[in-house]
Amino acid sequence: AVNTSIRISTLMALIVAICASLIIARSLVKPAQQMSVAAQRIADGHYAERVELPKDLEHSQFDEWQDFAYQFNLMAESLEETETMRMQLLGDVTHEMRTPLTTIKGYMEALMDGVVDADPATYHRIYKEADRLQHLVTDLQELSRAEANAIPLELQPITPQELVDATYHRLFLQYEEKGVALEMDVAEDLPMVIVDRQRLEQVLTNLAGNALNYTPEGGKVVISAAVQKEQVLFSVSDNGIGIAEEHLKHIFDRFYRVDKSRARKSGGSGIGLTIAKSLVEMHGGKIAVRSQGEGKGSTFSFTIPVA
Ligand code: ADP
Repeated sequence: AVNTSIRISTLMALIVAICASLIIARSLVKPAQQMSVAAQRIADGHYAERVELPKDLEHSQFDEWQDFAYQFNLMAESLEETETMRMQLLGDVTHEMRTPLTTIKGYMEALMDGVVDADPATYHRIYKEADRLQHLVTDLQELSRAEANAIPLELQPITPQELVDATYHRLFLQYEEKGVALEMDVAEDLPMVIVDRQRLEQVLTNLAGNALNYTPEGGKVVISAAVQKEQVLFSVSDNGIGIAEEHLKHIFDRFYRVDKSRARKSGGSGIGLTIAKSLVEMHGGKIAVRSQGEGKGSTFSFTIPVA
């Protein structure tokens, strides 16, 4: 009787073990299959695909699956974001190129038909549009390199005063020509920063160049540097046309221009600030903008960690 009951219970235990392992195996295989299907769909270009954990696994002991599904969804989300950005960029670039190209083509047709005189003024207009296209291409190249972190930085210690001086001397004549005052306000004994001199001058020149563009004659722009916690804070303040609150959060976006028609006339493509932001971030800093509103001037500032 003892032997029989041992045999029966062994058999029962075996059956239970087999059933249990089958159930567990099934519940493990199912999410794996689900993820494999989702991965295939993403590979086919359906970037909105996400995996959902089966309800019975949600609060179970299979934390690893939940983690895996979560990470998988994060990856899918970032792929979807990249794809959206790619499409948006393509649309923006096409849009930016269309206007100058249409103008150039229009003038050429008019010249061929003899509707427009072949005088220096016409050639100058065509030249200006071609120049705009060239600027756009250069900016785009720079932007893609900056965003891909593909700009090698030649770091060297430098004083903030030197950076501000260099920018001041680069732009001084243009300021004088327009009748806008350019001033420097650099705190004494500022610590050195370790930066790519050329790149940071590019950022400061871009900000001070914008300030000049958007400040009417008789206005004033101040380039300043001061220490703030463990960082040096560079600022470019103008008392120009200012920026309305709703635009502030988009100002560093690619191709963003507050007044599209005005910026187009002045030749801006709305990429300068995006490049400036990437360059500052490559140095471990942050860039920001403040403005009290239209007509009340703007202040662009960025931080660079102290050497
Ligand atoms: P852009 O080449 O058009 O100047 P940016 O990226 O440098 O491109 O600037 C984006 C937009 O931000 C500009 O078109 C302008 O509308 C706004 N902006 C930049 N700097 C200033 C400023 N100092 N004052 C007012 N608006 C500004």
